[in-house]
Amino acid sequence: MNRRELLRQLGLLFPAALLSPSLLLSAANNASNSQCCGHFIVVGAGASGLYTAYKLVQAGATVTILEASGVHGGRIRPLEGFASYTVELGAEFVHGMGNQNGTPPSFLYHDINTYNPSLLKPVNSLDTLLTIDNTTVWDSETNDPDILQVWQLINWASDYSGPDITVAEYLQTVWDIGPTHRTWHFYEAYVGTEYGTSLDRLSMRGYAAEEALWLTGGKDYLLDDSYLHILDTLYFNTVLPNVLYNKQVTAINYSGNGVTVTDQNGTNYVGNAVVLSVPLPILQDGDISFTPALPTTKLNAINGLEMGAGMKIVLKFTNAFWNTAQMFDLLCKGYTTECWVPAKVKTGATINVLHCFIMGERAEYMSAQGNNAINIALAELNSIFGGNLATNNFDEGYIIDWWQEPFIRGAYSYPIEGSYPNSGPPTGINKRQILAQPINNKVFFAGEATNNNHPSTVHGALETGARVAEEICAAFPANIPNTLSLTGSQAVCSGATNIYTVPAITGTTYEWVVTGGTVVSGQGTNQITVQWSNATGGTVQITQSR
Ligand SMILES: Cc1cc2nc3c(=O)[nH]c(=O)nc-3n(C[C@H](O)[C@H](O)[C@H](O)COP(=O)(O)OP(=O)(O)OC[C@H]3O[C@@H](n4cnc5c(N)ncnc54)[C@H](O)[C@@H]3O)c2cc1C
Repeated sequence: MNRRELLRQLGLLFPAALLSPSLLLSAANNASNSQCCGHFIVVGAGASGLYTAYKLVQAGATVTILEASGVHGGRIRPLEGFASYTVELGAEFVHGMGNQNGTPPSFLYHDINTYNPSLLKPVNSLDTLLTIDNTTVWDSETNDPDILQVWQLINWASDYSGPDITVAEYLQTVWDIGPTHRTWHFYEAYVGTEYGTSLDRLSMRGYAAEEALWLTGGKDYLLDDSYLHILDTLYFNTVLPNVLYNKQVTAINYSGNGVTVTDQNGTNYVGNAVVLSVPLPILQDGDISFTPALPTTKLNAINGLEMGAGMKIVLKFTNAFWNTAQMFDLLCKGYTTECWVPAKVKTGATINVLHCFIMGERAEYMSAQGNNAINIALAELNSIFGGNLATNNFDEGYIIDWWQEPFIRGAYSYPIEGSYPNSGPPTGINKRQILAQPINNKVFFAGEATNNNHPSTVHGALETGARVAEEICAAFPANIPNTLSLTGSQAVCSGATNIYTVPAITGTTYEWVVTGGTVVSGQGTNQITVQWSNATGGTVQITQSR
């Protein structure tokens, strides 16, 4: 997942549209003063579900998290003990540092950078080895016009305003580039695979819209620790005791007061509302029955996006046989698609492991191969590096096939034809936005597929958790905030003027009572100025309500 790395090749900047004031939203998503009352059931303990729970608990609510599998993290899954570092079987890169034009960072980047900046290892300036015409070329050195054209598509995509066709149809009809073209595999890797699919499934209009809607810049980072461990430390640890594992939700009844959520054993969980954070295929496949049935608009949104096959093949070698000084990334021509070398930026790691990233039709093919997929990958590496270098140095392989994971069933969501209503700059409501809308303030929707700006990512999933917590707090507001911290000087002198403040909370009223002095300004707001008349003592009291 490092498509935006390509921007450096042409030295291009993001279009001006990306610099609109709405950019501030992503940075602000994490900040909330809302407080809420109630008990909420969160379905799914992936990034979005856990972050929703974390924000709700912070806001004063209580939560129960029901997770179908035996682990938390969802599509963030560490593999320990395979390599000299934690192998990431799912999400690996942190996106969203912002860009040089002042785009603010994602709050995930911000929080990790605040916690420990040395954990963030930049990868944008590292080299990619491109396989082309039975040879290889470094991306930083090529002037091949066909390769430059690949990067032009990526940099121009957000300007597309044509008909609702697939990216494959666009390339064929507009640029006369088809599957037999010498650079087709680069389009597949940098666009199709990046979007979790193949070019003949990805909507060109959707691709354009999602490039234009992306707000958090083009820089990517690997982490010098396990992704999940960092998220646990920053956010999730506080709510992990609330996770009930091996609880597959099969039914949700939201017909009466509150909701009743039922698991596969028939156990009921009652709450004021439910948050669904499950992957898109779980909703599409009807794993969960709803009473009353979901509205047609919601069903259309669920079926108006797609999530398909995706896998990683992790290959460990006794010796690295590539140019270890230069190569971070490798683009292959066959099923293996793209392999990178995380050890290149991980402290103290041995450079002997490739992470190969395969999506869409190629992943479907490799999925059908079972363990033979490893032999196919090795054969492709042999043909790139010569001789039997990959096979001869092969030590161990690990396949994670997300398509076959029972409670995930794919990689991440992508737009198909019809996902975005209009051509040109994205306006009007799209399927992700409809998917995100709550139903009757009882059924709320989180998860990467519901993010309008950063779908398919971890920071996007977290952002949806923040959004849902805000929606719930608006629907179930606390009358009085749980904590009030009153600040202001306690040392007062006769005739002195002092300021006293409590945190500003939207929608609340403030009533100050002062003895021994006079409120000279600010009554009714979260901050008052007091003129003290009596040096022997006084009191300041605040009642906050809504
Ligand atoms: C191979 C791969 C590579 C990726 N690389 C990156 C990357 O480098 N950077 C990045 O930012 N993002 C990346 N992503 C995307 C990122 O992992 C996801 O966008 C994000 O983790 C999704 O979080 P989520 O909470 O929306 O869903 P999930 O993580 O899927 O969580 C949903 C949870 O719901 C549970 N569940 C399902 N059904 C039920 C049920 N009926 N009852 C109860 N629980 C249920 C599931 O078990 C799961 O734990 C990658 C994804 C994949 C697959």
